[in-house]
Amino acid sequence: MSQLFVRTLREDPADAEVPSHRWLVRAGYVRRVAPGIYSWLPLGLRVLHKVETIVREEMNAIGAQEVHFPALLPREPYEATGRWTEYGPNIFRIVDRKGSDYLLGPTHEEMFTLMVKDMYSSYKDLPLSLYQIQTKYRDEARPRAGILRGREFVMKDAYSFDIDDEAMERSYNAHRDAYVKIFDRLGFDYVIVQADAGAMGGSASEEFLAIAANGEDTFVRSPGDYAANVEAVTTPTPDAIPFDDAPAAHVESTPDSPTIESLVALSNAQFARADREWTAADTLKNVVFMLRGVDGSRTPLVIGLPGDREVDPKRLETAVAPAEAEPFTDADFEANPELVKGYIGPVRDGQAVLGEEGSSKVRYLLDPRVVSGTRWITGANLAGHHVYDLVAGRDFTADGTIDVAEVREGDPAPDGSGPLTLSRGIEMGHVFQLGRKYAEALGLKVLDQNGKLVTVTMGSYGVGVSRAVAAVAEGTADDKGLCWPREIAPFDVMVLATGKGDEVAQEAERIAGELDELGVATLLDDRKASPGVKFADSEILGVPTIVVVGRGLAEGQVEIRDRRTGAARNVAVADAVHQVVTDIDPETP
Ligand code: ATP
Ligand code: MG
Repeated sequence: MSQLFVRTLREDPADAEVPSHRWLVRAGYVRRVAPGIYSWLPLGLRVLHKVETIVREEMNAIGAQEVHFPALLPREPYEATGRWTEYGPNIFRIVDRKGSDYLLGPTHEEMFTLMVKDMYSSYKDLPLSLYQIQTKYRDEARPRAGILRGREFVMKDAYSFDIDDEAMERSYNAHRDAYVKIFDRLGFDYVIVQADAGAMGGSASEEFLAIAANGEDTFVRSPGDYAANVEAVTTPTPDAIPFDDAPAAHVESTPDSPTIESLVALSNAQFARADREWTAADTLKNVVFMLRGVDGSRTPLVIGLPGDREVDPKRLETAVAPAEAEPFTDADFEANPELVKGYIGPVRDGQAVLGEEGSSKVRYLLDPRVVSGTRWITGANLAGHHVYDLVAGRDFTADGTIDVAEVREGDPAPDGSGPLTLSRGIEMGHVFQLGRKYAEALGLKVLDQNGKLVTVTMGSYGVGVSRAVAAVAEGTADDKGLCWPREIAPFDVMVLATGKGDEVAQEAERIAGELDELGVATLLDDRKASPGVKFADSEILGVPTIVVVGRGLAEGQVEIRDRRTGAARNVAVADAVHQVVTDIDPETP
């Protein structure tokens, strides 16, 4: 410790929102350089390397081969697949001295595809799996929580290449199995959930989420086997309802009721129903966004959904990608006078405004629950007015459906396996069946058994290596500091020399030296510091076993502490090394 490049901090860093960030900085594992950009100090780097080792071992075990690509990449391959534009502001772009465009790689599908195209030409070369552990760059809109969401981060990305879908599925399952082993070894409490394939443009895709209250991802589970990221949850469409007996729509004056709450209150006061109260679920809320396309185009989009639900920003982001949904501004309302702020509706004066037959060209999409025959209170597209008993399929139609309403606890699972429960998690890994998108765009073809050229089918598989360090810290830290599982701890044992006198220092050094010789990674706290400082630091650093050489030495004893449980016991000095070694590995003779 007297030599180690580390300083523990007594205070939380000002920008720390979550425990992992707080403790990794306070324990001297990482240091911030700029938003979302961190340096690794010796302790942090040891943990990062251990995570890399686990990932490497499990990837090699399924026959994947490690390669390494540059992070600085030319524009052309990303242009060919459309991602140069699709990534928008999310990639770092660079212009060299000759004026040529480059980017810092956010992920490497293009480069791997081209490499295989360069080298291979026959079905006999396949299957093939390649991977790298490499620094990635993404200009994240919201870098967050230290290394949990960085703008520079370490990812393991792997890619599989197969001759047909069946073989690709085998590769996918092999990678998925490897991930199970990786995350088991990392000591995660995790779930595997269905994911939206998103910008990757593939079909089947699953995410490995570490269960964490501070996670950015929300996922659902049913009592059956269903588990999905909320972005991937589909809402079952209810059956249409007959509307022959439904009363005719009627417009009512509803002043000062631009919100759902005020509208429900006014409806109950002035237009009370005989059978029950009006609720927010009786209203059809029409929310307007401005969609910004990757080409910079701006088109309004109105989404109609039951008034008791909000639009979920992440589900919306996924649904409209690669376009982006922006708030509709007052200037936008001025430019689109057919949309009356606070009173937007599909119909005005009995005439369709929105939807297929609408007079407006504004796109109108409905929540899947708004099926034909459902009856609504909604905006009359006239300031201070709403229309009642507006029947979907009779009085209005849409241009299609969009499934972006928030998913709620108790909603039915799409596969009928029961009510959903919601939890939060951190995305640790992602496996995709990419299919032929990249191979097609970049012309990766090989000759099949019949001598015919066929397009290769691919999978892509990512693990957040630096994120895993933060996620393990997040899941294991306590109120005293970090608390590493042994498999990735920077050291196995910390030996504290607490107390004055040469004997204490000598015994501590002897024990540390012997442990070291036995291959136990040991950190000796030999500093001239008070026992209090040493105890506090050992707790912050989070090394799993702590040996205290101090006051007990007079009686020939040292203390062995378990950092995680806090359990402590005294053992004879002569027996200390043996005890520690058998604690670490009970199989030791
Ligand atoms: P997210 O939804 O969290 O932004 P993503 O879906 O964009 O992640 P992928 O492209 O699937 O991420 O990348 C593979 C893995 O890399 C992710 O599962 C995650 O563990 C990790 N990762 C992605 N973005 C970051 C980041 N900004 N910082 C650290 N790790 C990241
Ligand atoms: Mg992902």
